[in-house]
Parts: sequence; structure tokens; C-alpha cells
Amino acid sequence: MEFILASGNQHKAQEFDELFDHRIIKICSASKPVDVIEDGNNYYENALKKAKAYYDVFKKPVVSDDSGVDVVALPNDLGIYSARFGGENINFNERIELLLKKMQPFVGEERRASFTCVLCFYLSPDEIYYFSGKITGLLDIQPRGDQGFGYDPVFIPDELKQKNLTYAMAPDWKKDNSHRAKACKKAQDFFSQTHCQSKKSTI
Ligand code: IMP
Repeated sequence: MEFILASGNQHKAQEFDELFDHRIIKICSASKPVDVIEDGNNYYENALKKAKAYYDVFKKPVVSDDSGVDVVALPNDLGIYSARFGGENINFNERIELLLKKMQPFVGEERRASFTCVLCFYLSPDEIYYFSGKITGLLDIQPRGDQGFGYDPVFIPDELKQKNLTYAMAPDWKKDNSHRAKACKKAQDFFSQTHCQSKKSTI
């Protein structure tokens, strides 16, 4: 099945390209970006808004991703607002700097955070599927690593705590185990069992 990716985020597009078995799910970039106002109350509502906006323009199956980092010590600051944390007019290094500054009073387990990814597969207005993935960990005290994007340099997944690696230091591990990888795996399992099989049986 082929889906248009409802995102202008090149990093997400690259991760998706590596995450799906192309024989089951193929993701294509949209020929032009579509402006979407992300004013939903949660990841699911924003994922739906993005997917519907692209579907309405292109009239083809669409997949959208809404994701973010939730920080236990700052419950209202990031989450669905992760991309805009600190305002629209700062770059990502400044955003990370601000996050680390706000986190200064917090130590050890007080620095708990999680990443969530919600995928919305919008095949038509009558056929919409959601898949989610989550990963927990700790916020580092300084950025480390130069791979990935966004908050990758300050997130230490629980599974990498022993090795003391951030997402940005372990791109191969991230590819197989991230919040996005988990959501993609659920989607791929679903589509390979349902749509691929029903297609086969009609041939
Ligand atoms: P969205 O594009 O509206 O879903 O915003 C997602 C925000 O969360 C962006 O600011 C990203 O930088 C951040 N984010 C989402 N996924 C990841 C990831 O895998 N690594 C680092 N940051 C991420």
C-alpha cells in the first residue's frame, strides 16, 4: 500500500523510509506541503488533523505522525507543544538549552521523560487507523551525540541507561526501538495481516 506522508519534516520522512518493509507499506513525500493548524488536545487529534488536511488536498491514502516528548517535571510545557517549546522564533539548539535550564533543579529520577508517537493512517474518511508507540527514559544534563533530530541529544532511553547513550548517540538502536519504530511495527503487522491478505484473496 502506498501512502503520502503528511509532514514537511525531512527527518521523519527519512526515519519512515527505513522503518517500513516497502513490500507492505511505501511512503512518498507530498509534492507540496499543506499548512495545518495543530490545535488538537492530544497526539491523536493532531495526527488526524494533519492526515485529513493532506487527504483533502491529494485525495490519496495518507499517513501522519504526531509525536513529542513528555517531561514529568514540566507537565504542561512540551508533549503536543514539543515543536514550539520556547516559542516559534528559536532554533532547536536554543530549545534544548532552555529545556536543560528549566530542568536544572531536577536530579536523578526527577528527570523522567517519555517520547510518544501516534500514527494516523487515513485511507478515506470512512477508514482511519491509529497506531501508537511510547518509550520512557531520562533527560540528560547536557546534549550528547550528533545523529537524529529534535530532542534526541538529551534523551537517554531506559534500555540505554547502562551504556549511558542518548538517542542521538545510538541511531541504529533508535531505528529498531524508538517510539516511532514501535508504532510503525504495529502498523506494518496490521496492514500485512489485513489489507495484504484480503488483496491476495481477491486475486
Ligand atoms: P510534530 O512534528 O508536530 O509531531 O512535532 C514533534 C516534535 O517532537 C518536534 O519538535 C520534534 O523535534 C520532537 N520529536 C518527535 N519525534 C522525535 C524524535 O524521534 N526525536 C527527537 N525529537 C522528536
